[in-house]
Amino acid sequence: MRKKIVAGNWKMNKNLQEGLELAKNLDAVLANEKVNCDVIIGTPFIHLASVCAAVDTQRLGVAAENCADHASGAYTGEVSAEMVKSTGANYVILGHSERRAYYGETPEMLKTKVELALANGLTPIFCIGEVLEERKAGEHFNVVKAQIEGSLFSLSAEDFGKIILAYEPVWAIGTGETATPEQAEEIHAYIRGVLAEKYGQEVADNCSILYGGSCKPSNAKELFANPNVDGGLIGGASLKVEDFMGIVRAW
Ligand code: PEP
Repeated sequence: MRKKIVAGNWKMNKNLQEGLELAKNLDAVLANEKVNCDVIIGTPFIHLASVCAAVDTQRLGVAAENCADHASGAYTGEVSAEMVKSTGANYVILGHSERRAYYGETPEMLKTKVELALANGLTPIFCIGEVLEERKAGEHFNVVKAQIEGSLFSLSAEDFGKIILAYEPVWAIGTGETATPEQAEEIHAYIRGVLAEKYGQEVADNCSILYGGSCKPSNAKELFANPNVDGGLIGGASLKVEDFMGIVRAW
């Protein structure tokens, strides 16, 4: 059966000391509590090694928020998938809408990043989702399908089985506006159908599809109650232990 997952995305928040404190506090809570889902935090690159050394990464998974689309070499300022893996992190968030919108990440670049992540033993948390105009135009199904096809459908079924998907409607990210549970279930079910068409029902059924977009303790339970919503990718509410744990406890 597919995993239930709550993953945080700190984005460009918290300096090293603050991030370390947050990670340690979260890990301490998890050490004393039985939770019903996998818990992951996505941190800035510079935090990764320190955070991985300070927490039990079996209990609290650690993700980078990006990696380079090249394996190594003269790419000043970039961080490779191999480097991420060498910190002890086991996951990498790829294709976040902020990276697509502000850093020009294309489906082709993301395809390469996914391949490099997998080649280096990282589990990609691959983000997809439509902008408001696309939703208003009824294009959201086509948009997410194209995002999946463009970056993931050249993977073998075995490699696709290692991917975690995160559906994040861009209009709900950081806006306080959340997709309704019905909207989330509708598109998650559609996404699973797209996966089943390509890879068969078993692979589709085993793929965790997270919802992201203003998910918080007060709405997590009703979102997670849907059969095709397997957890959340959490931005703002991942920056405080109590908020994040409130979402973890929704399972
Ligand atoms: C995100 O950036 O992945 C996200 C879901 O952000 P927020 O929870 O703040 O909407």
